[in-house]
Amino acid sequence: MNDFDVIIIGSGLGGLLCGYILSKEGKNVCILEKNHQPGGCLQSFRRNGVDFDTGVHYIGALDEGQILNRYFRYFGLIGKIKFRKLDQNGFDIIAFDDEEYPMAMGFDNFIENLLPFFPSEKPALQNFVDALQKISKAFPLYNLEVPKDHKEDIYYNQSAYDFFNSFSITGSALPIRRMTNRKSSTSRHLLTDVLAGNNFLYAGNPGITPLYIAALINHSFISSAWRPVDGSAQISDRLTDQIRLAGGKLLTGREVSRIGIRNNSFNVTTKAGEQITADCLVSAIHPAQTLAMTDPSTLRKVFSDRIMKLKNTPSCFALFIVLKENSFPQLNYNYYFHSENSVWTAFPESAWPGSYMLYTPSCSGNNKYAKSMVIMTVMNFNEVRNWKRTSSGHRGMDYLDFKDQKTEILLTLVEKKFPGLRSKINFLDSSTPLTWRDHTGTPEGSMYGIQKDFNDPLKTTILPRTKIPNLYFTGQNINLHGVLGVTIGSVLTCGEMIGLDSLIKKIRNA
Ligand SMILES: Cc1cc2nc3c(=O)[nH]c(=O)nc-3n(C[C@H](O)[C@H](O)[C@H](O)COP(=O)(O)OP(=O)(O)OC[C@H]3O[C@@H](n4cnc5c(N)ncnc54)[C@H](O)[C@@H]3O)c2cc1C
Repeated sequence: MNDFDVIIIGSGLGGLLCGYILSKEGKNVCILEKNHQPGGCLQSFRRNGVDFDTGVHYIGALDEGQILNRYFRYFGLIGKIKFRKLDQNGFDIIAFDDEEYPMAMGFDNFIENLLPFFPSEKPALQNFVDALQKISKAFPLYNLEVPKDHKEDIYYNQSAYDFFNSFSITGSALPIRRMTNRKSSTSRHLLTDVLAGNNFLYAGNPGITPLYIAALINHSFISSAWRPVDGSAQISDRLTDQIRLAGGKLLTGREVSRIGIRNNSFNVTTKAGEQITADCLVSAIHPAQTLAMTDPSTLRKVFSDRIMKLKNTPSCFALFIVLKENSFPQLNYNYYFHSENSVWTAFPESAWPGSYMLYTPSCSGNNKYAKSMVIMTVMNFNEVRNWKRTSSGHRGMDYLDFKDQKTEILLTLVEKKFPGLRSKINFLDSSTPLTWRDHTGTPEGSMYGIQKDFNDPLKTTILPRTKIPNLYFTGQNINLHGVLGVTIGSVLTCGEMIGLDSLIKKIRNA
């Protein structure tokens, strides 16, 4: 007899959602989490008396009847988590040196709000939103339908960059003025750069990123975009409570270091030497990390070689800022800035940072002024490779100097758009790819896990069911990253274990 029906490694969103489904289905579930707080990217942390979110800043498609709302209803989250709808006429602002363009909610509204900047391009804008609708309709789980005819397959090997580039129309350069006081504008931007201007959301890479990733993410946010109020840890707290109520176990401070497989069942060892057994194993951590802990004699070499060689999406550098009281307005939108006209060239190390995403977290109470601000930009792991053998709090003075230097460069760029920001800062902390690596356990602190590649979709797509009986993957590395992507991934994984058709039926009826 094993200790549990199912062990889940990792209590990020993927692990928790699988824990919820399986314990609700009567399975005896144990989730093992290396950190002391569950949630992974949903975790929050406190600096100078203010809570910050780790990795979920806004969520799409949460309006009544929309896809995430339907999933969240099944997971018991609707009505239990506080969200605030972002600005309907500009939930994302795509900014260049001299101009700012709004990405609006609602597909007709999206067109209407961009039309003043591209007055003769209504057909192109219509084509863009039609394409997003068509692509999202082709993915069955994005419509809570049982997969059958693989209509979605054609989008796996199409390039996001080529798709956006088909809208390479020059705008009329009519600036809207939000935070800047500029009176006129000289440069003109391409519609393609505006439409792809939030590509930090999927770490867009022109030669690699598949169309479906950019399309599904944009579709969900244009449907409706929401900010968690008082932090995204509410989601993990609620799921944890529900899992425990259904009889599931969640053990924190348990880093799994070895996975033994015998007679199709699993013996998992933690770093502290604890051993736990189960009939099934769901790995909600990076697949390469999973295989590195597994006895090689139980793995097919071709399979493990393929997974170990897969590339990952880049990591990021982030500033977590506590603002002086009443010094900076609460922004009900996300601000994506690009110093180059082409948003796709935003990632080369030589031009770092090139672009950034800035937002002010939402909290209950007075909303006129922001308490805090987060600024994020892509950073390659090479920048911090010198300190790769160090752990948090013990990386040395030169690492702190490096962080200060990068902070200065980033703040100088941000102050071009938000003059005087430095004088409004009460407290500032920063994170690097090492922080992400050590917090989430992803190789080189990758933000979104395995880099899906439209040139080779078969090789870079990870399926939830593995060749090893009773071993499954879930989380952002299968299907798609992000809250919606990981939610659908958890349904795919559990569907493999308990039957997808009946699970979808239950979610539809929730
Ligand atoms: C900077 C950033 C911003 C983002 N912003 C958004 C956003 O605004 N909206 C959105 O929808 N998505 C966003 N995302 C993406 C989203 O947060 C992730 O795709 C999603 O939360 C990943 O969930 P997961 O369960 O796959 O992995 P994770 O959240 O990484 O969870 C993995 C868990 O496994 C644990 N673990 C790792 N190794 C072990 C081990 N050996 N033993 C035990 N436990 C282990 C980790 O501690 C962690 O808790 C963002 C991501 C990042 C990095």
